[in-house]
Amino acid sequence: MAEVRRTVIVKLDIDGSDATLLHETVEEYLLACNYVVQDAWQDDYKPTSKTELHDRTYSDVREQTRLQANLVQSARNRAAEAIKGVVARWENGKEASQPHFTTPSVHYDKRSATFHDDRVSLSTVNGRVEAEYALPPEGDNPQTKYLRNDEYEVTGATLQYRDATDTFFLHIGTKAEVESEIPDDGDAENSTVLGVDLGIEQIAITSTGQFWSGGYLNHRRREYERVRGDLQQTGTESAHRTIKQMGGRETRWAEDYLHRISKAIVQEAVAHECDMIAFEELTDIRDRMPGSKKFHAWAFRRLYDYVAYKAEAEGIETTQVDPAYTSKRCSKCGTTLDENRPSQEKFCCQKCGYEVNADYNAAKNIGFRLLRAGQKSPHGGATRHLALKSGTLNVNGGYSPAVQ
Ligand SMILES: [Zn+2]
Repeated sequence: MAEVRRTVIVKLDIDGSDATLLHETVEEYLLACNYVVQDAWQDDYKPTSKTELHDRTYSDVREQTRLQANLVQSARNRAAEAIKGVVARWENGKEASQPHFTTPSVHYDKRSATFHDDRVSLSTVNGRVEAEYALPPEGDNPQTKYLRNDEYEVTGATLQYRDATDTFFLHIGTKAEVESEIPDDGDAENSTVLGVDLGIEQIAITSTGQFWSGGYLNHRRREYERVRGDLQQTGTESAHRTIKQMGGRETRWAEDYLHRISKAIVQEAVAHECDMIAFEELTDIRDRMPGSKKFHAWAFRRLYDYVAYKAEAEGIETTQVDPAYTSKRCSKCGTTLDENRPSQEKFCCQKCGYEVNADYNAAKNIGFRLLRAGQKSPHGGATRHLALKSGTLNVNGGYSPAVQ
């Protein structure tokens, strides 16, 4: 027996006054997270134990917020995980600064929320809010497969607010015990994966060979930083005001730009009849990408979120895969060598001679990684396919030309 975990995203139907309550809850939850981190940062030694953090902050947070006990504990857990992450980076000789929580999300467990088949009851700063799920019709979608399936048990959920569409979503965690050795029972049947590689020069590249240049985004960012630097030197109050206004405008512009790319990526997935989109794992992406700035990590995260959100509406699942060796592995013959990557742009396989754009090679490998993760057994049917420029590739390397 193996445990399978699946996350199902559902949109919540919420009316005005309930939405206000949820916004206030999110706000106070983030305040609680930040309070716990701030408290830990008062000392040189950073406590990571939940018990210690609880003892240090619980009563203060209860006093300063209207959160129920379970949400105070949930916020403390989130803070503890973030502190642990920082300490782990320090121990590995990497830089990390004090975590600060701004993403509007709240984690609920089965005490702070009650999960029903079609709705949820969420603890807020003032009693509970009942929200109905906006579910798609029963069919081949994650909501039917996991949420409406009694074999899958709900473990908890994260409430997320999306500013762009002014909507609350619930990312519901589910789990089940299944027989199969590799936990992917059934739902990998005949699915097609679109691989996406992220980069600085090309912001996104798909396994189907589509490129979106990061050139204009990078150029505009550099210009903004140059002007901001000049204004900072000026140092006047009006200069600071201008910096703030410019910052807001640049962020909105970049978000809009990323929205458009995300839309095109999802269109590409739809055009190739993909039901999964694979990105590389975004955690620590800057460490793997020479020359990347904090801005890029932000942009990649946004792009991923936008794709996941738009893909979901098309019934396409978006996920992240382990990026190890995706840049050095030959997507044609599987040979993995440092020498396969003679430069940033070029991939050239030392074994089979396959020569191709390095990012395109990586995009195929990212998709391929998800393909392999879905394979039931070494001898079993290869049921996932990778979408390529023309046709698809299965996990055993079998190529099928596109049906026109
Ligand atoms: Zn090769």
